[in-house]
Amino acid sequence: MKELTNKDVYDFLEEEIACHPKLSDKFGGNLKEHEGDDEFWEELSENLDCFTICDICGKPMIEGYIMNGSHYCSDACLHEDFSDEQIAELCTEDNDECYYTNWYEDSISYNKH
Ligand SMILES: [Zn+2]
Repeated sequence: MKELTNKDVYDFLEEEIACHPKLSDKFGGNLKEHEGDDEFWEELSENLDCFTICDICGKPMIEGYIMNGSHYCSDACLHEDFSDEQIAELCTEDNDECYYTNWYEDSISYNKH
């Protein structure tokens, strides 16, 4: 699996926004400047399906964990809510509430590469 750093997430989203003329008017530019601006990211996520927001740190994420309906961008954020034991208990094969996934495969810029 390709490891994406947070910088990659911003690069990816900047490219994605550039593919949508309507969005680039409003959300274009250096996304890193909006780090920590919850309102900005919430609004953008309503307009763009290829990412979501980490429920712990509030940063944009294009892949990560879904556990019981919450989103976690990294192991560190996941461990804010769950211990190793809890994760092992929850992540059983018959529990489809807990898994690792990505949101970017539907995106325009991902698919054109
Ligand atoms: Zn996080």
